[in-house]
Amino acid sequence: MNILLTAHEAAPFYKWGGLGDFTGSLPKALNKIGLDARVVIPFYQIVREEFNKNKFGVKEEKIGEFSIHFGQGREQIGIYKSYFPKTNIPIYFLSNKVFLSYSGPRGRNKKIDQFAFFALAVSHFVPWLITNESWKPQLIHCNDWHTALVPLILQKKVKINIPTLLTIHNLNHQGRGSLKVLDLLDIKDEEVKTLRRGKPVTEINVLGEGIMHATEVSTVSPTYAKEIFENYDGNPICYFLDRREKALRGVQGSKQGQKDKIIGILNGIDYEVWNPKVDKCIFHQYDEENFEDGKKNNKEDLLKSLSLEDRPTFCFIGRMANQKGIDLLIKAVKKIENFDFNLIILGSGRPSIEKAVVDFASLYPTKVRAQIGYDEDMAHKLYAGCDFIIIPSHYEPCGLIQMVAMKYATIPIASKTGGLKDSISDGKNGFLFEKKIRSLFDKGY
Ligand code: ADP
Repeated sequence: MNILLTAHEAAPFYKWGGLGDFTGSLPKALNKIGLDARVVIPFYQIVREEFNKNKFGVKEEKIGEFSIHFGQGREQIGIYKSYFPKTNIPIYFLSNKVFLSYSGPRGRNKKIDQFAFFALAVSHFVPWLITNESWKPQLIHCNDWHTALVPLILQKKVKINIPTLLTIHNLNHQGRGSLKVLDLLDIKDEEVKTLRRGKPVTEINVLGEGIMHATEVSTVSPTYAKEIFENYDGNPICYFLDRREKALRGVQGSKQGQKDKIIGILNGIDYEVWNPKVDKCIFHQYDEENFEDGKKNNKEDLLKSLSLEDRPTFCFIGRMANQKGIDLLIKAVKKIENFDFNLIILGSGRPSIEKAVVDFASLYPTKVRAQIGYDEDMAHKLYAGCDFIIIPSHYEPCGLIQMVAMKYATIPIASKTGGLKDSISDGKNGFLFEKKIRSLFDKGY
């Protein structure tokens, strides 16, 4: 079976968080069970520069181009091809100077326009692939709101009938913005009636459109699949979930349960990348046989590099977003008088959270370290050198850091939600804390 995965990111070429890990590792896993999976992502300037510096150890090659209508103009798309390092799995990059050079345009409508453009480019890339690479995808796998317009555009504009799967990695990012994007895509109201159903009605909800138009919808853990239906009451996305359920009932002629609306499949990680035995970023490599020495030596060098004393050492790694619960971590540590452990925080994101973390660290100069920024090398060193990793997320669709931590013999302490609940067995391979405790902290007890 041929599968074309599309997303905003794919490690190691371009990665913001877990979605990048997912898109970088799933094709390899599919390949191992005999499926032909390939990936297409935008060719951002930064990726181009890293290719030029030979960062990935593989080269990219321009293999073609085509043009698409977008708004008033015609835009040229360049097609580049490379392979995931040490594999023969192709990855394609689509380039365009105006819309696909920079990854983070400011302003929510600019982002909607950028990813509508990318979705249009991917949809037109499909017939190009069939003709020029003699490779016909039998499934198109879209991920998150960035690529959630692909099913709609394939049906209504490119008019190709290929099944689509939309995987939701985070339901809180929906791509809500002005309906004007429809004019850019040249999609008419009468063609696409559901589009005018965002809240307010002048708004498009890109993820919602994906939920309506994809053949199948999945998410990244069984518990999150349940939580979506329990916790999103009143959220604008509900309208689309309900519509999908009604449409399914119409087709199947019976009352279907929620399992038919969204399937929850737990993510995994790539042990060729996340493996202390071969990890070149860490101070000392180790495996199951010598992990006690390995952990001890890595911890020693990590603490020395950060001028911390030898104490039990906890870390936090993640995007600085409200979701990740750093507020809880800060509140909890502040409640402990004369604590005797190290805490190392690595992350970047929302400036107000970054500032709160830096202010917090400055209160405990001998025990807490905060590193603001994205640092792949440091993340690996923390996985290898810490005793515990704290994951206090308010919600976590899947979470990969707990899986990486376990592979590095670092014990996760996490809130009992989503994929954390599905992958951590309390008291066996980590610890889970319950919502009740978190709400106590919220009330300031
Ligand atoms: P999410 O997808 O919500 O970002 P996950 O737990 O699924 O969270 O995945 C996070 C991934 O991003 C992990 O590979 C983690 O190591 C990495 N990561 C997050 N923040 C940083 C950072 N500041 N520096 C390096 N790696 C990071």
